[in-house]
Amino acid sequence: MITGKNYVGSQLLAGGTKTYKTINPQWNIENPWTFTEASPEEIEQAIALADDAFKIYKNYPAAKKASFLNSIADEILELGDALLEIYCTESGFLKGRAESERGRTIFQLRSFANMLLEGSWLEATIDTAIPDRTPLPKEDLRKMLVPLGPVVVFGSSNFPFAFSTAGGDTASALAAGCPVIVKSHSMHIATGEMVASAVIKAAKKHQMPEGVFSNLIGSGTTLGTSLVKHPLVKAVGFTGSINGGRALFDLASQRPEPIPVFAEMGSINPVVILPEALEKNSKKWAAVYAGSITLGTGQFCTNPGLLLGIKGENLDQFSKELADEIEKIAPSCMLHPSIKADFNNGREKIRSQNGVTTVAEYKEETAPNYAQQTVLSVDGKTFLENTVLSHEVFGPFSIIVQCENLEELTAIINKLDGQLTGTIIAESAEISNYDTVISALQNRVGRLIFNGVPTGVEVCASMLHGGPYPASSDSRFTAVGIHAVKRWVRPFSYQNWPDELLPEALQNKNPLNINRTVNDVITNKPI
Ligand code: NAP
Repeated sequence: MITGKNYVGSQLLAGGTKTYKTINPQWNIENPWTFTEASPEEIEQAIALADDAFKIYKNYPAAKKASFLNSIADEILELGDALLEIYCTESGFLKGRAESERGRTIFQLRSFANMLLEGSWLEATIDTAIPDRTPLPKEDLRKMLVPLGPVVVFGSSNFPFAFSTAGGDTASALAAGCPVIVKSHSMHIATGEMVASAVIKAAKKHQMPEGVFSNLIGSGTTLGTSLVKHPLVKAVGFTGSINGGRALFDLASQRPEPIPVFAEMGSINPVVILPEALEKNSKKWAAVYAGSITLGTGQFCTNPGLLLGIKGENLDQFSKELADEIEKIAPSCMLHPSIKADFNNGREKIRSQNGVTTVAEYKEETAPNYAQQTVLSVDGKTFLENTVLSHEVFGPFSIIVQCENLEELTAIINKLDGQLTGTIIAESAEISNYDTVISALQNRVGRLIFNGVPTGVEVCASMLHGGPYPASSDSRFTAVGIHAVKRWVRPFSYQNWPDELLPEALQNKNPLNINRTVNDVITNKPI
């Protein structure tokens, strides 16, 4: 069933010389399949096909693109348990996680299909002419969003379905009208090939232009960089490390024609636990946070890696309770031996810094790629002075920072790098006394959470999954929810354009029956 080849459009090709294997992290052995990297000619062909496909695909009616997206969802489901098994084999995740992530991926595809059918996402805006305006007549102007062109998507390691081959980046780019070339993540190439086969099947079923989707195998530094440097590629989606995302961002900026890179990178997701909440509910929050820190073996970009509180008995009590909870959770498998090695190295680097103590650690032996969840602690002054302590440790890890007072806690927040989320744990009576903390946090994050956990990212239009750099490379956009489509479009105006030559979204009759802003009023009425 797995061919080990690249999808260059709908063709399965394997002209490269380098081969790859993926790992089964549960068993710590290589998987049986051999994958062949895309040759330079195949990369060139995939991009040329995408560029040709763009000229056709961008003009397809919304309903046709929506059917394509729904059909991708159907074809993924059609792959059944065989897909889930390969996902588990390559990721170390259990079947329940595979099912829920597949469900999320299907939901994302269908959400973008619904968005296309509803139509207001195009932001069609019309200002009709006023020929007799004095001193000068007003022209007829009509604006809408149009797709950028071929998009390269770097699949993530930690979401082999939802942020990979047919995940949120791909679904949103296809919805925008952009062909997609996926750089398959090297840790789950077989999962990627199976999902790609579903996309290609759907593309054929709906007579999509050849090259609307390709799935290529290769390393970041060869395949990844040649895709990003190619003049016909017009935007990039990425989820992964700060080093990888930043390298691609710099590469894209240095092109003769710079292009946007929407990179979702590191985050330690600060959680501020206020004094009354600690006094009244420390046991409850300790249990909740032990669960959040270890969820998905901590391999979430929203993992709570930094817990901030005011020094004292209550924080000590919370630390003890968190330790009890953390130590009794059975460790789980990480995505790959290299991710496990990074986890151990990152954790030990932080533990070896002056003033850092261990609060909790799973102490029993584990299988090779299982992570021993760990919570460390340090005082606020030391944390402020040592930037190593705020580095992301990807995995089940968190550090408790014991602040001297509110001023020190606020100073820490102000000094943090940009984050995806910030959380406040508080009793409702005390929250109003902490305006400065809330305001500082809002300045550093993309999403604020009250009395909850940062893990668990709802897919809906009001979700913001992004944040100031380096949480993401452009804090104005989200990678989750239908507004993720905005990353792949640009606004475009027609002036005095003949009605019959306008896209349907801007024509007088409003044949799509969509909501538009006409002379400053939102309406679906014809003009
Ligand atoms: P990664 O190393 O950044 O790789 C992500 C993708 O980018 C891979 O396809 C990789 O290709 C490619 N890539 C990496 N560096 C590149 C470069 N310089 N030029 C071009 N392409 C490049 O991330 P990962 O493999 O997913 O995980 C490694 C670490 O990233 C984790 O341990 C964790 O610290 C972090 N991470 C963070 C998040 C988050 O959401 N915060 C999510 C996932 C991972 P190849 O692998 O084929 O070279």
